[in-house]
Amino acid sequence: MEFPENEKKSLNFIESIIEEDLQNHKNEGRVHLRFPPEPNGYLHIGHAKSICLNFGLAEDYNGLCNLRFDDTNPEKEDIEYVDSIKEDIQWLGFIWDKSPYYASDYFEQLYKWAEMLIEQGKAYVDEQPQELISQQRGVPTRPGTESPYRNRPITESLDLFRRMRAGEFKNGQMILRAKIDMSSPNMHMRDPIMYRILHQEHHRTGNDWCIYPMYDYAHGQSDYIEGITHSVCTLEFEIHRPLYDWFLDQITDSTYRPRQIEFARLNLSYTVMSKRKLLELVQKGLVNGWDDPRMPTISGLRRRGYTPESLRNFAERIGVAKRDNVIDMGVLEFAVREHLNKITDRVMAVLDPLKVIITNYPEGKTENMMLVDNPENPDSASHEVPFSREIYIEQDDFLEDAPKKFFRLAPDREVRLKGAYIIKCEDFKKDENGRITEIYCTYDPESKSGEAGSQRKVKGTLHWVSAPHAIDAEVRLYDRLFVDEDPAGHKETDFKEFINPDSLKVIAKAKLEPWLQKAMAGDKFQFQRLGYFCADKSSNSGHLIFNRTVGLRDNWAKSNA
Ligand code: ATP
Ligand code: MG
Repeated sequence: MEFPENEKKSLNFIESIIEEDLQNHKNEGRVHLRFPPEPNGYLHIGHAKSICLNFGLAEDYNGLCNLRFDDTNPEKEDIEYVDSIKEDIQWLGFIWDKSPYYASDYFEQLYKWAEMLIEQGKAYVDEQPQELISQQRGVPTRPGTESPYRNRPITESLDLFRRMRAGEFKNGQMILRAKIDMSSPNMHMRDPIMYRILHQEHHRTGNDWCIYPMYDYAHGQSDYIEGITHSVCTLEFEIHRPLYDWFLDQITDSTYRPRQIEFARLNLSYTVMSKRKLLELVQKGLVNGWDDPRMPTISGLRRRGYTPESLRNFAERIGVAKRDNVIDMGVLEFAVREHLNKITDRVMAVLDPLKVIITNYPEGKTENMMLVDNPENPDSASHEVPFSREIYIEQDDFLEDAPKKFFRLAPDREVRLKGAYIIKCEDFKKDENGRITEIYCTYDPESKSGEAGSQRKVKGTLHWVSAPHAIDAEVRLYDRLFVDEDPAGHKETDFKEFINPDSLKVIAKAKLEPWLQKAMAGDKFQFQRLGYFCADKSSNSGHLIFNRTVGLRDNWAKSNA
């Protein structure tokens, strides 16, 4: 990124590290990052942050960024997730180096290194049950207990490890452990597990393997194999760094070395971001799939109408932190509103229709009003909006007993119909329940928008749709998925208890201006006065469906929450 000299952006701490490494010509001056998702779920907005960071740094420093699937746990992984992850990254607008990488491609090499460590007396096969091993690890303030198998002969460990691979043992019967330090204050250094037995088919390697490497053993070595220079991860891995380095010490020469750097993960208010919890919402049918527009997944945000630009701007704006923090959902919504304001055409739609009859307007007459598509764009085109004797306005834009400051329609009061005429309410009709069913108005023929004589000002402007020309659409309004700011943060209460029962409101028959008939799945619009809307992926000309992406104003702000 280029900045004029006097307003050079200050570097974040990761950029500072990279620049220092470049100055020292570390790793031959290469910058090579990676984004390493585990394919056990769909990506969420936190991953988007990590993607923007890693791929963004690669772009800024003329480097590269790999996509690497961290597929070392076949129990939870699936090809569906692999595909969705690729789609999401491409949609965000990033290009990974070469084809995607898979940790499973390194299983053979990782296995060889493991044998090497055994031969050097730095790893051993333990036969104790898992619970005992955990107990022996002890607590950080006191040394742990060494396993009775810790000092078994190298040849015995080697033989057992080969037989583990050959499938001679059951799940959990044996494990391979690194021999490091059972009294280290860092629990991760107390002879951590390198391999476990898992008789489980893998989505890529099939039944080739029945032993699988642990994350800590696979990750740094994968970085090394790919020539990664800066391995950016979230803070919870800080405590794993000595182990990351210990494994690398065993295999690296002095000329090249990846470096792990940790930053604070993104936390957002009013949502959950663990893939396990998101999976639970999907599996229990509490949402309509991974791409439900209420989900914080990238696919959910896309379906809701978020743009790649808005997510990238959001990631840029929140920056990188070294300490955990929580970002207000309003910041994310601000980013999408800002972008949609620039790019969307303005249209009119009425969600809760109330019929208005303009008694002095000729029956059967239609006028085509010209409305500017996007006033934010100086070169914007306009489109025709038909006007006629019968129109719809919103129910709540009329009040029978209106207070003085109500600048919408009320008996004997005037409003402007956006892009059309000024009308005055003369009368109205109610049903037996007191609900207003029809309004009778007169219009001022001299008040047509954009024409001489239209200078007359009235306080309120309403959106409207011509009744005979209106098209029907289903409109889905979303509210926050959880009623609690931190649904996963309660020890006593399951996060699902905080699901907002009113997070989805479906309007079966909204009335839209006819221009919207052309809307294709994914098309985005500003419905005047109502917010930004996106045609759903299942929308078609026979049954139009729109999702509200976001309202026009911040409804999350505390003051009017
Ligand atoms: P979860 O805990 O939700 O299952 P994860 O961290 O296990 O997520 P991975 O697939 O391992 O998910 O994550 C891939 C990359 O995305 C990792 O580098 C991880 O640090 C990063 N990442 C995951 N969640 C966030 C987040 N909330 N903010 C920033 N980066 C994240
Ligand atoms: Mg993970």
